This record gives sequence, structure tokens and C-alpha cells, in this order.
Amino acid sequence: MPENRNEYAIRSRSSILDQLGKELLLSKDNNTSSGLLVLRVVSLHDVNIIHGYENGDDFMSRFSLFIHEVFPKADLIIRIGNNEFAILLKDILNKNHILLAINKILRDLSNPFLIKNEQVYAKVSIGAALFPDDARDAEQLLICADTALAKAVSEVKDYSFFSTQSIFKGYSNVEISKELDKAIDKFELSLLYQPKIDLQKNEICGAECLMRWTNSMMGSVPPDVFIPIAESTGQIMDLTVWSLNVAFKQAQQWCSKWSGFQIAVNLSAAILYDPNIIQMIKSALNMWSIEGDKVILEVTESAVMLEPEHSLEVLKNLTELGLHLSIDDFGTGYSSLAYLKCLPVAELKIDKSFILDMNKNEDDKMIVRTIIELAHNFKLSVIAEGVENRETMIALESLGCDKAQGYYISRPVTDSDLNEFIQSSEWKINTNDPAIDQS
Ligand code: C2E
Ligand code: CA
Ligand code: CA
Repeated sequence: MPENRNEYAIRSRSSILDQLGKELLLSKDNNTSSGLLVLRVVSLHDVNIIHGYENGDDFMSRFSLFIHEVFPKADLIIRIGNNEFAILLKDILNKNHILLAINKILRDLSNPFLIKNEQVYAKVSIGAALFPDDARDAEQLLICADTALAKAVSEVKDYSFFSTQSIFKGYSNVEISKELDKAIDKFELSLLYQPKIDLQKNEICGAECLMRWTNSMMGSVPPDVFIPIAESTGQIMDLTVWSLNVAFKQAQQWCSKWSGFQIAVNLSAAILYDPNIIQMIKSALNMWSIEGDKVILEVTESAVMLEPEHSLEVLKNLTELGLHLSIDDFGTGYSSLAYLKCLPVAELKIDKSFILDMNKNEDDKMIVRTIIELAHNFKLSVIAEGVENRETMIALESLGCDKAQGYYISRPVTDSDLNEFIQSSEWKINTNDPAIDQS
């Protein structure tokens, strides 16, 4: 166990990779295998909300002690995030040894922690990868374990092993990530724009930017594949700088001729926690002379709730630039309502999973109605995504929903197709441009 608590402190990515790299070199020299676990304490959010942040910190300190007690001294334990640990199991023979270690953690966690005389159970998710089978160096190994963790979290499982099986057309995450490195320079990325309608005014009020990647080897790679990879490798920062600049350049043109038009950009969780984010957005706004209030940043509910205290600070700084914030995929995470009240958000965006079948499924409709009422009680605007037919649009209108977006209105289209859509659409646009006749 570490002699002092400083060894439990969160470490920088470069120092993590440095230490892991040294251990893996030794393992290589000795011709042995190592297993890397990335463990996330998924119940920290609940502990913070139920018992308060101070007790949440206490809980994590005790969890650090616990995890050091579970493993022999020889193994390496590094705290890599507020609620994440990397654990390197040295000199193992195969995957079964990793499984034994995982089972030991899970078994020992069946005993509760005592926080202020109350029993608190820690719920964890673990991603595991094997060196040298899955990866050749520390960075790749961490990516593999991180990818496995993301899978465990999304499937609500205790653990998951990195699968060397291809995730997309036979290409591994590492291969996709390498191609992604060159995507910006090779002009393989583009943005599509999906219009949004103001249901009260019956007007086009803006568009969401959605990234597309066409690679020479893999063809079109969906954002649901490459965005999570970019998030786990840190490449998301470059992609976001690129997308903000393309979007703002485009917005300069559209916002000057259509008053009330707002451009919406998606911001990943990984970006929300990057210390450079405020400066980066400020520079992009200045570069293209865009007023902050012409921009909506879409941030997912789960991203905001990952570390609510930290995101509150970032979101406040962003709204000080005049930007509007929208909570994306609303309804799929587990926001604390009390917390929502403190967030400087302008809009809730109801996830499309509730909208797609709302006219056939009474439960979905009830959820949509409740979210709209909740949003309005908090003086927030509400937008529905995934509106695929006229009936859904009418139902949303009658429930008092403020805005809508979906295939019924338009699929995501290129900039020139959006211009065409606006010229010929049944929906009006508030224009400053006499060339566009809306009469
Ligand atoms: P999202 O932000 O929830 O985006 C909405 C997704 O729903 C888009 O998928 C859009 O094409 C799709 N969609 C829109 N209308 C309908 C509809 O009526 N029916 C159905 N079934 N689907 C509809 P897409 O473009 O594949 O994007 C997927 C996700 O990838 C996005 O989800 C977002 O999380 C992420 N993403 C896309 N572009 C970016 C980006 O530039 N930056 C970041 N960080 N993430 C992005
Ligand atoms: Ca979005
Ligand atoms: Ca969404």
C-alpha cells in the first residue's frame, strides 16, 4: 500500500503512459504477459447526490485504499481520473488470470463501505486488455482497456475484455484511430447540417452540424463508430477544433442573411473536461466574427452528469461567452432534477428513442409530455429530435414542444442542399435578404 495519500492523487496522461511504458518494457524483456484493467466507480455520481460531495470524496479515498488492499504489492495501481483507476497485473499467463483478479474485486465489493455510519455499496465497471496480445505499447494498451470499459458501461456489465475482433468492416479501433489521425489533412471530414423548426412560429430556426468521415480505405465511417474512438484517444480535440471552425465559417454566412438562425454543434464529454475548451471556443468565435448567441452547444446529459460540479463551472464560463447550451439525449441519463435547476442551460433536447414511436407507445408519449412540462417549469425551451412523420410533429405541437428536428423535416444535408431546402421549403425563415421572397 502507498506510504502516503499523495500516491492516490490523479495523474497526468503523460506520466501514466510513462510509468506503464516502463513496466511493459520490463515485461517484454522477461518475455511475460501483462493485463491492464481500467476500473470506473460508476456509483460515485449516486454517492455524491445522495450523501453530498464531501462524503463522495471520502468514499473515493476509501475506495483507493480498498483497491490497493486487493492487489499484491507487485502490481501497479494508478489513479487516472476522479473515479477511474488503471491496474497493471504483471507476469500473468493468460486471460484467465485477469478474470481471477476481476472476480476478486467484485467479490470483495460485496461488502459495503461505511460512510457516516451508512452502508454504501460501490458499483464498478471494468475494461480489460492483454499485453502483448492486444497492443504493442502503453498507449495502445490503455486505448484497448478504455474501449473495453466503454463497452462494459454501455452494456451495463461488471466487466468486458477488449475484443480483437473488428468493430467496423474488419478494422480494429487502433487501425481506425491511425486513419483518423490523417483525416483532417486528407480532407476526408465534412459537416452535414440538419434543419430545426420552431413549432410556435412555424419557421426554420437553425441547424445541427453532424460530422461525416469518408476514408479512402474504409469508405464512409459512421460518427457512432469514430467519435467514441476519438474520445478515448484524445483525437476528439482536433476534430472539435476543425468542426467548430467549419461550422462558424458557415454560420457567418447564414446568420447574416437569416435573423434568428442558430448553428448547433455537438460537444463530447471529453471536450467538456478539457482545460483549453473555453479559449478554443473563444478563438473560433473571434476568428469568424460570430456572436456567441448564434451558437448552441449540444452536450449530452451523461457528459454533464459525469462530474456535475466541474461541468457546472465550464458551462457557466461558456454561457458567459453568450453561447446557448442544450442538454442532448435528454431522458437517457439520470440527471438529478435539483441539479438541473442549477445548470445554466437554455434547452433540453429529448432523445429520439422517446420520439420515434411516441404515437404508438403511450409510455413514450407520457415521458415526452413530462419532459416538456418539466422543461417549461424550469423555464427551459424543449426540442424533440427524431421526428420522422407528420403525426409526430402534430402531437409534439399539441404538447407544447418548442422545436423539432428529424427526417420528416429533412435529413442532414450539405451546406448547398440546406440553402436549396430553405429556398423551397414549406417552412418560412426570418430573412434579412430581399433576394429570398417568402410571400
Ligand atoms: P446526436 O447528436 O444525437 O445526433 C442525432 C443523430 O440522429 C444524427 O445521427 C442524425 O442523423 C440522427 N437523426 C436525425 N433525425 C433523425 C430521425 O428523424 N430519425 C432517426 N432515426 N435518426 C435521426 P448521426 O449524424 O449518425 O450522429 C450520431 C451521433 O454522433 C450524434 O448523435 C453525436 O452524438 C455524434 N456526432 C455527430 N457529429 C458530431 C460532431 O461533430 N462532434 C461530436 N462530438 N459528436 C458528433
Ligand atoms: Ca446532438
Ligand atoms: Ca441526440
